[in-house]
Amino acid sequence: MIRNRWKMVLAAGIAAGLLAAQPVSAAGSQVMRNEWQNENLGPGVARWVDENGNVWDQPGVRPAEDGGEETAGADADGAAPADSARSAQETGSGDAGQAAGDGSQAAGDESQAAGDDAQAAGRVIDPAKPMVALTFDDGPYAPVGNRILDCLAQYNGRATFYVVGERVPGNAAEMQRIVAEGHEIGNHTYSHKYLNKLNTAQIRQEIDQCADTVQAVCGVRPATVRLPGGNKNATVLAAVQEPIVLWNVDTLDWKTRNAQKTVSAVLDHVQDGDIILMHELYQASGDAALQIIPELTNRGYQLVTVSEMAQYRRGGLQNGQIYYSMKP
Ligand SMILES: [Zn+2]
Repeated sequence: MIRNRWKMVLAAGIAAGLLAAQPVSAAGSQVMRNEWQNENLGPGVARWVDENGNVWDQPGVRPAEDGGEETAGADADGAAPADSARSAQETGSGDAGQAAGDGSQAAGDESQAAGDDAQAAGRVIDPAKPMVALTFDDGPYAPVGNRILDCLAQYNGRATFYVVGERVPGNAAEMQRIVAEGHEIGNHTYSHKYLNKLNTAQIRQEIDQCADTVQAVCGVRPATVRLPGGNKNATVLAAVQEPIVLWNVDTLDWKTRNAQKTVSAVLDHVQDGDIILMHELYQASGDAALQIIPELTNRGYQLVTVSEMAQYRRGGLQNGQIYYSMKP
């Protein structure tokens, strides 16, 4: 039998913590010693790295050889017009400006049609009733994601998964399930680099390569972008024309790795129109979701995707906007 030694390798500056993950037996014989590695990619893009330095998406499961479609990078001058200012919604964000309503094309172009999903699934969303957008970042990661999806299916809720593009090919089945069950895929960049450290061409490549990979794997193109770490500057805001969705409830689940703290962070504060930030990489976050989803439903909250919330609360998403929440 394969015996893996599990160890969390932490880059400098990252708080220590054990990753509660269980080894998955590989089909064939594999290396004897692997490690989880967190390469300082912010709150938790964990990777399974074997002793030969190969990065696997799941512990002990060799990635498919024909994994992802290699996509061309953004062309060098794909920058947004420098004068397209953004307006932040619902918060006193310091970089709020005028909405660039003129130059922004419809955000929904090739994206999932939120309303269609709702109708196809027999859901009726009542805009007059409270709604919450649960968002799960840094996946896909099937061992946790499928638990969340099972629970959402049980309660007929929907959520938004902000995926890291390089993880997508190795979790293709989960990605396809997310789409098939009416959830939304968001763009969390290709490799989870902090965009405020990059130039315009690099920023566009991170966004476009993620979108292209998602589209190749599951046929939809993310409608919105979530910035890794929420980090932004003027270059980022000029380069990312897509609607940016951040959050107003931060569970800090990646930090506490504690299901009850994560549950409390949501249930003690939740309000109509909240966008809640959780992460898909941790079993504790999955445990928390399995409590949060039933209880929010029990309290009368409709669990909607970001695009659904935007449609019912704002008449749709707009390019050049930052959304933190969508209060009635
Ligand atoms: Zn992230």
